[in-house]
Amino acid sequence: MIVVMKIGSPEAEINRISEEFSTRGLTPERIVGRHKVVIGLVGETADLDSRQLQEISPWIEQVLRVEKPYKRASRQFRHGEASEVVVNTPNGQVVFGEHHPVVVVAGPCSVENEEMIVATARRVKAAGASFLRGGAYKPRTSPYSFQGHGESALELLAKARKETGLGIITEVMDAADLEGIAEVADVIQVGARNMQNFSLLKKVGAQSKPVLLKRGMAATIEDWLMAAEYVLASGNPNVILCERGIRTFDSQYTRNTLDLSAVPVLRNLTHLPIMIDPSHGTGWAAYVPSMARAAIAVGTDSLMIEVHPTPSKALSDGPQSLTPEDFDRLMQELAVIGKVVGRWKQPAVALA
Ligand code: PEP
Ligand code: MN
Repeated sequence: MIVVMKIGSPEAEINRISEEFSTRGLTPERIVGRHKVVIGLVGETADLDSRQLQEISPWIEQVLRVEKPYKRASRQFRHGEASEVVVNTPNGQVVFGEHHPVVVVAGPCSVENEEMIVATARRVKAAGASFLRGGAYKPRTSPYSFQGHGESALELLAKARKETGLGIITEVMDAADLEGIAEVADVIQVGARNMQNFSLLKKVGAQSKPVLLKRGMAATIEDWLMAAEYVLASGNPNVILCERGIRTFDSQYTRNTLDLSAVPVLRNLTHLPIMIDPSHGTGWAAYVPSMARAAIAVGTDSLMIEVHPTPSKALSDGPQSLTPEDFDRLMQELAVIGKVVGRWKQPAVALA
């Protein structure tokens, strides 16, 4: 349930009401919006009478029932307001959210060696990306495929961060690696294959780095939002949802089917920021630019693009990786659409 407070409600009264809910066995969560304070109530609310709850204080404007099974992730839980995930990178604060410029995350599928990760980081930064992505621990279909360099790759990511000031996004597969990853990563990725690894979700929810939650390849929107709910319910409010394509009947010409309709659907259902990954979504570098442009047009808050210095030699996902030159071109194309929809970061110094 959510309790909407009237504008100007005194702090002491909000605290008193929250305590009152706690004594009734509920968990109150205060959400401070642009205009109003809302108290989200989680717990056994099925038998509660909203009119009775309203009697607790004259400062309560409305008591509403959240009908969806995902409570904290629902748009209603924040009374319709979008949430923001704020990340402090060495280059400054980056905000993922509906009212902010599109955040671009780019980099190779896997961290292969120092030279390639640092060179890629420099190139994607120069083109306008805010985050470097790169896997240290790779979820591969075959146990014989390259599994990632693990801990030593984390050190290389730290180096690339230091050299460029870009934020780092990298994937956790095993909770045992979480602490080491959290030391380097600014945002921790939970991959498609682990979207419903509930014990992992609880663990990333119990630490403080923001979580990038990729959609499972056969997950419904509701499965996905319930997975986000695990992270939120474990205490971490910073979750970004990443659509990366779902399995459909055709895998001959595209690796997955990128569900761009997820953007308006999620916007309606949840307050969480949204990312689109056209690289895994299509599986082919040739299709990435059009789907990236479409993603901005449809209203994504962020994009994840795989970039590799020499895709033909990549240890994973080469066919879907852009070259740095392709990425430069793409960023210029994206700027055109980004500006039209009012979601593009202007260069710090106006170009002549
Ligand atoms: C990746 O980002 O490289 C990756 C493995 O993604 P996904 O979990 O979406 O397949
Ligand atoms: Mn990949």
